[in-house]
Amino acid sequence: MLHLKNIEKVYRTDTVETLALKNINLDVAKGEFLSVMGPSGCGKSTLLNIMGLLDGPSKGEVRVGGQATARMGDKQLAHFRNKSIGFIFQSYHLIGDLRVLDNAELPLLYRAMSARERRALAGEALGRVGLANRVKHFPTQLSGGQKQRVAIARAIVGKPDIILADEPTGNLDSVMGGEIMDILLDLNRTEGTTIVMVTHDESMARRTHRLVRLFDGSQVQ
Ligand code: ADP
Ligand code: ADP
Repeated sequence: MLHLKNIEKVYRTDTVETLALKNINLDVAKGEFLSVMGPSGCGKSTLLNIMGLLDGPSKGEVRVGGQATARMGDKQLAHFRNKSIGFIFQSYHLIGDLRVLDNAELPLLYRAMSARERRALAGEALGRVGLANRVKHFPTQLSGGQKQRVAIARAIVGKPDIILADEPTGNLDSVMGGEIMDILLDLNRTEGTTIVMVTHDESMARRTHRLVRLFDGSQVQ
């Protein structure tokens, strides 16, 4: 589902050059749940951004769902990303002045679909994460765990093949974090969604199929 070959990423500014990823070779199979661990600054977010086609590698090849991405233009990339990939972040990134249902609908705004269909799919996704009774709330009226569940609903509303999660439980206590993990594991098992999750929590990583460790831009396990 995800194929990274000889990936190198260099960040360049006027004064400094940072080699953020070195010779990464990684395949994530369809239906796999992979976790990525490593110390701060080792390249985890960079790796996830490259997998998610938010940023391109400096060298190497990225294939997503069998498709080569190097020659795609920005518009084609955005369309492909919207269709294939759902994103979840540590800090939720919900829009504060939109209600829960409207937040969950956001990825569908780019699709040819009626407002009614969008609402139905968003309602279904919110039901899936146990928030059917919070659709009219605003994000500030929710707990951290509930906000992350809205973010998961938004990530799955377009039925993506892949979910990329950057420390999804990082701001949550262990009980709420465990609930978020339960939802991700259930999506992986029942929908076959491929998931890549960055985490600092060994106990969360142990619940996934495979763990990749990064150190200073290189894969060490
Ligand atoms: P992690 O997610 O593991 O904390 P990152 O992928 O964010 O690590 O960063 C890897 C390295 O790349 C770090 O040394 C960081 O300082 C550098 N880096 C990340 N983003 C940028 C950027 N936009 N410009 C320059 N350097 C960056
Ligand atoms: P933090 O660890 O500080 O909470 P996040 O997990 O929120 O960071 O964000 C991780 C990365 O994803 C960052 O590089 C950020 O720029 C990027 N990002 C955040 N929100 C979005 C978004 N809505 N769409 C695309 N990229 C985003």
